[in-house]
Amino acid sequence: MAENNDSACSHAGHSDSEELDQAVKECLKKIKHKVLVFSGKGGVGKSTVSVNLALSLANTGAKVGLIDIDFHGPSVPVMLGLQGYKAIQGKDGMMPYEKGNLKVMSIPFAVGDENSAIIWRGPMKMHVIKQLLGYVQWGELDYLIIDSPPGTGDEPLSVCQTIEDADGAILVTTPQEVAVSDVRRSISFCEQLKLPVLGVIENMSGFVCPECGKVVDIFKSGGGKEMCQQMEVKFLGSIPLDPSVVASGDAGKVFVQENSGSPTEKAFADIVSKINFE
Ligand code: ADP
Repeated sequence: MAENNDSACSHAGHSDSEELDQAVKECLKKIKHKVLVFSGKGGVGKSTVSVNLALSLANTGAKVGLIDIDFHGPSVPVMLGLQGYKAIQGKDGMMPYEKGNLKVMSIPFAVGDENSAIIWRGPMKMHVIKQLLGYVQWGELDYLIIDSPPGTGDEPLSVCQTIEDADGAILVTTPQEVAVSDVRRSISFCEQLKLPVLGVIENMSGFVCPECGKVVDIFKSGGGKEMCQQMEVKFLGSIPLDPSVVASGDAGKVFVQENSGSPTEKAFADIVSKINFE
């Protein structure tokens, strides 16, 4: 169960939109680094990267928050084995789930039912995004990792507009996505919003054979790196398609925690070490 003694956001509890904006500002100013994790479409490993990045940073002793703002398929609760967790409504806002120096918030924690489809229209989504960012008692954090909605539509746009001073975005892609240019659209989206691209991760790049442990290229590899050179953004590295990643995610365990020393865990660690937070 969550334990949290951090001071609350002073404007929490009001519904007026200006006060909500103010609450968001006050909550976010207590957080040193805000990093958005984006992808051109769903299913490429954006949540997997968000969870493993958050935990890798928390393992360094930093105070880390992880927020999952995916209206259609929030997967962070499953990946952390937190299904059924309901955020406690404190006097001044919602309490994130807290374990050690990692705090976690996800839409189902607030809504209370992870199995029902959420039907919210555009303006309501913007409001929910702001509430999740402004009325959660994050307290002081070194990093907030934001698992953002996929694509380049209204939802990621609302997230970017709400977090005005983010360090930047990490873009997760796959070799196939590089080929169909979804990731290029995400890069252009960040450029138009003047959001720095901290780097691109090519996930599911090659396959780790469960028999021999060798990485076999199924799709053409190297496309992500090439694309980054062309678009003048940093390539952070590749993560292979590894059955242990699925097994950890489905079991509610964090891959980097459970598979220390494996080639895929080393790939994650190498990527995290290359991120230059602003
Ligand atoms: P997204 O957030 O982009 O929708 P997820 O992180 O939920 O994608 O990943 C989709 C599925 O792919 C999950 O079942 C996850 O365990 C699996 N997955 C992600 N990355 C890898 C990988 N490198 N190897 C194997 N499976 C992966």
